[in-house]
Amino acid sequence: MSITEKCLCGYDFNLDWNLDEKIKVVKCPKCNNEMKFQNPNFKEQFFVNKHANVEENNLTNKLYKKNSNDQIWWVNNRDQFGEHVFTFDKKKYYNLFKDYPYNLTSEEQKIFDKENPYWANYFADRK
Ligand SMILES: [Zn+2]
Repeated sequence: MSITEKCLCGYDFNLDWNLDEKIKVVKCPKCNNEMKFQNPNFKEQFFVNKHANVEENNLTNKLYKKNSNDQIWWVNNRDQFGEHVFTFDKKKYYNLFKDYPYNLTSEEQKIFDKENPYWANYFADRK
């Protein structure tokens, strides 16, 4: 949407805002004075949602393997410390502490144990 602003020099001009834009710094086309404007219709909610979607789309960019010939991808989620999420196919995601070993197929368990002896040993009493 477009809003008319006025510079100290008296010059009127239009500012075009997107809903997720919070602040704009513009120069007056007439006197070159630099001004900072806040979007009066800024929607915090929209901003947050938009970024949450980006986050989801970036999930596959956060995947890494502990060893290059492993089959398991781990999610590199530094923001959620202590959460260990992994996937075999980049479609189904397991949470280590919740799903291991109950929700893994026996084939997946075998692969997991081979690639992650530390965790296999850590959860040995769950079997
Ligand atoms: Zn001006």
